[in-house]
Amino acid sequence: MPILVLTIVILGLGYRLYRRRAKAQLRKDWLATPLTDHERAIVHEQVPLVRTLPDHLQQKLEGKINLFLSEFDFYGYNGLEITEEIELSIAAQACILVMNTDAWFDHLTNVMVYPGAFRAKQAHHDGYVVTEVNETRSGESWSRGPVILSWDCVAQGAANDKDGHNVVFHEFAHQLDDLTGHTNGVPILGKDQTFARWERVILDAFDRHVANTERGRKTAMDPYGAENHQEFFAVAIETFFEKPERFKKEEPEVYAELSKLLRLDPLEWTK
Ligand SMILES: [Zn+2]
Repeated sequence: MPILVLTIVILGLGYRLYRRRAKAQLRKDWLATPLTDHERAIVHEQVPLVRTLPDHLQQKLEGKINLFLSEFDFYGYNGLEITEEIELSIAAQACILVMNTDAWFDHLTNVMVYPGAFRAKQAHHDGYVVTEVNETRSGESWSRGPVILSWDCVAQGAANDKDGHNVVFHEFAHQLDDLTGHTNGVPILGKDQTFARWERVILDAFDRHVANTERGRKTAMDPYGAENHQEFFAVAIETFFEKPERFKKEEPEVYAELSKLLRLDPLEWTK
């Protein structure tokens, strides 16, 4: 009897190991697979920023897009039919954040897309009073859950890549932030980064941003970044890609930390 149990355990472990290896191999294959010419044309049309990337980054991005499409399902709501354009545009923008690192959206379950801005019920806590407010949203990121996006806002954000607003960058920055188990503006840092330095640089910059916003001073970053630390991180990511020159001038240390985190320097390809 113990031999039978042992055999079953060994077979079970062997099967799990086999499945894990098969999954890792599949992942590797996707990462090495380029887009088809047809898919590449759609990405270049939908997300003009991709056209400006150096070749080695475009190659890496295409592999990540393929992996993204193989792992995550897209669901359309309010009558929206999910098309190739929608999938490729969202996957491309999300993967720009991780095209040069090993980071992946391990907590993402799926992508939900609405045709326009959608309404979400939000509870506001003020002392003992909880008020339910119907808010209009362009995007939402759930911890260990889906990313919800408005297609109108996604398309607009991709078409204008110089205004500092990109809902896909924003929501997927929250997904990266969540990988530590807490969405708090401190993502999993790169090997050449330290928590002490990140904390000092980001907290100082956050305080400056709050002060600037309160005084009505315009900066590269959108005032929404002054909400809290996690929004500061998400808005900083949008600004990093869309207004790199001004952002680096205003917040050189934040720019350097984000550059180390993502192993990217958008100034290299925007110049
Ligand atoms: Zn946010």
